[in-house]
Amino acid sequence: MTKTTNNDMPIVCLECGLVFILTSDESDWYRERNYNLPKRCPRCRRKRRAAERLGNAEAKGNSTSSDDSTTLNQGSVFNG
Ligand SMILES: [Zn+2]
Repeated sequence: MTKTTNNDMPIVCLECGLVFILTSDESDWYRERNYNLPKRCPRCRRKRRAAERLGNAEAKGNSTSSDDSTTLNQGSVFNG
């Protein structure tokens, strides 16, 4: 019999479409801190951080760096 660990959550990366697994531990970590669950794979998150640094100078005036209110709202397949 296999352990039924149904807590691991597959998430499709918004950026590259890669499916990565968010473990229950990880999602707990985010929830504990009231963070939104990640929408991008670790790799793209790193990229984004780097890009944010670079784009920081350009992006002044238009401060739309919040992740939650993106127009892409198709990530709600994995409710549960
Ligand atoms: Zn990605």
